Amino acid sequence: MNIIFLGPPGAGKGTQAKRLERQYGIAQISTGDMLRAEVAAGSEIGRKAKSIMDSGALVPDAVIIAMLGERVRQPDCAKGFILDGFPRTTAQADALDALMAQLGLKIDAVLALQVDEAALTERIAGRFTCAKCGAGYHDSFKPPCVTGVCDVCGSHDFIRRADDKRETVAARLRAYREQTAPILPYYAAQGRLHTIDGMADIAHVSEAIEQVLAKS
Ligand code: AMP
Repeated sequence: MNIIFLGPPGAGKGTQAKRLERQYGIAQISTGDMLRAEVAAGSEIGRKAKSIMDSGALVPDAVIIAMLGERVRQPDCAKGFILDGFPRTTAQADALDALMAQLGLKIDAVLALQVDEAALTERIAGRFTCAKCGAGYHDSFKPPCVTGVCDVCGSHDFIRRADDKRETVAARLRAYREQTAPILPYYAAQGRLHTIDGMADIAHVSEAIEQVLAKS
C-alpha cells in the first residue's frame, strides 16, 4: 500500500504516518527527516539545505525529487510507503507520477489533513521529541508523564527543531499555502483525495484514516 499525506506543518502527518508504518509494516518516508539527517551528517545536500530550511522555505525540487527517487527503491519500501512531506509542489507531484509509472506502482490513497491555521503555530511551537527514540511530545498537549524523562525509553535528552520557532512557522505556513495547497485540486480531480479532520484528537484522526484505507 502506498499513501500520500498532505497537510500544513503541524497537521499531524508525522504522528499518523508513524502509526501506519507500525500497523502495516510499510516505510514512512519523511523528506524533512531525510534532510535533517543530511544536515546532521554535514553532507553537501545538508549544507545547501540548512539555510533554506531554517528560513522556512522549500528546498529546490531537483534535490528532493532525486532523494525521493533513491529512497523508494530501498528494500524497506517493498511492501509500500507513506509519503510524509512529499510532494510539496506541483513539479514534485508530476515527478512522483512519472516515478510511480516507471516503477510500476500506484498511489492507493491521498490523505489531506485539514486543520485550523490558527491552531498550528501553537501545535508546532510547543513540540519536541526524544533525542534517543524519537517519541513525540508537546509542552501543553502531551508532556512526558515525568518531566524531563521520555515515557518510552527513559532518556533525559530531548530536541526541538530549529525551524519550529514561531518566526519560522509563519514562513512555513506561507510556503504551504502558496506552493503545496495548489496540489490538492490535482488529486481531487483524479478522485484520489480524501480529506480528514486533523483538528480531532489523535485517536479519532486515526479512525477516520482507517475508514478511508479500508475502502482504498
Ligand atoms: P518537514 O519536516 O516536512 O516540515 O520539513 C522541514 C523542511 O524541510 C521544510 O520546511 C523544507 O525546508 C524542507 N522540505 C521537506 N520536504 C520537502 C519537500 N518535499 N520539498 C521541499 N522542501 C522540503
